[in-house]
Amino acid sequence: MPKIVLLPGDGIGPDIVAEAVKVLGAVGEKYSISFTFETALIGGAAIDQTGCPLPPETLALCREADAILLGAVGGPAWDELPGNQRPEAGLLGIRKELGLYANLRPAKVFPALAASSPLKPELIGDIDLLVVRELTGDVYFGQPRGRECCNGECRAIDTMAYTESEVERISRLAFDLARKRRSLVTSVDKANVLESSRLWREVVRRVHADYPDVELREMYVDNCAMQLVNNPGQFDVILTSNLFGDILSDEAAMLTGSLGMLPSASLGGSVGLYEPVHGSAPDIAGKGIANPLATILSVALMLRYSFDLAEAAEAVETAVTQVLDAGYRTKDICRAGGELVSTAEMGDLVANTIRRGTI
Ligand code: NAD
Repeated sequence: MPKIVLLPGDGIGPDIVAEAVKVLGAVGEKYSISFTFETALIGGAAIDQTGCPLPPETLALCREADAILLGAVGGPAWDELPGNQRPEAGLLGIRKELGLYANLRPAKVFPALAASSPLKPELIGDIDLLVVRELTGDVYFGQPRGRECCNGECRAIDTMAYTESEVERISRLAFDLARKRRSLVTSVDKANVLESSRLWREVVRRVHADYPDVELREMYVDNCAMQLVNNPGQFDVILTSNLFGDILSDEAAMLTGSLGMLPSASLGGSVGLYEPVHGSAPDIAGKGIANPLATILSVALMLRYSFDLAEAAEAVETAVTQVLDAGYRTKDICRAGGELVSTAEMGDLVANTIRRGTI
């Protein structure tokens, strides 16, 4: 019985996680799997109840889980707290504690939502890419870091650093994932300038020797930023470091045009964590209008990567496509002619489509 820990978090988190659970219920019925769920606190909700954004009980539960589904954390109520006591500290803490060194963000355009993309229609048809971002190294964690002030002037330092083993493990993951897709990895770096990028390139090439069936291309990050808007169809898996991945994955996400549609997976440790890319949207929390599809699509990633249930993952993605093709929309993606539905109605539509195999 796969055990899933639910971390609804703050704002719209509880609303969207509830819809994802409905979808898992439908998947369970269709494929005769009994998922079990336990819910725990994280973020602002955890601060309010325990004083800590990542309570030890939550961490203990997550360590024993087969997968984790997170809503979102944060909100104005906790904005004045110091950095390490804010809801976001819970998020960074759980990634670190669970050794989640790889962040996966697929970007694919649903034909029914093509008009939401800022790109010309002829460019978006072929977008089907996966950004694999290293998540626990690079300039975000490198030492030394800090600030020194002398003679009235301050100097601030961050250190961009990678070890061979850090690059090797993320590269292997990217090549493995590419094998299940179109077998093309584009490794993105700044090796013309940065020493850490030169090591990155060396290690990626070395790992590539074990994957002769996967094509490796190399690209500088500035060029990649241009190519993503100029010819996004050329990419399959984009493998990159923490800082470059942070920026490129947001750029890739926006090609699809809708924040409420984007799932993510964080992998690497013994348990995977799945969450929508968007935040807790405090402006619409509790109004029943949040789009649950990013969280539902995160469930598809969970089925694929944590449970190796590719068919069930496809059933979820196909159901989402069918519901959108039939014209149903939450407020954020609704245009003239669309049929406006609530958060809960959208969850029901997807769950019922999975059960029936058709809308
Ligand atoms: P946000 O993603 O929460 O919201 C940006 C805009 O998109 C808002 O107008 C919101 O209403 C809308 N939106 C977001 N998700 C939506 C959905 N599913 N359906 C419909 N509309 C949606 O970003 P923000 O406003 O910058 O941040 C709000 C809070 O979320 C902050 O406290 C921030 O720190 C936090 N945050 C958390 C995460 C996370 O938990 N992973 C990520 C980003 C931001």
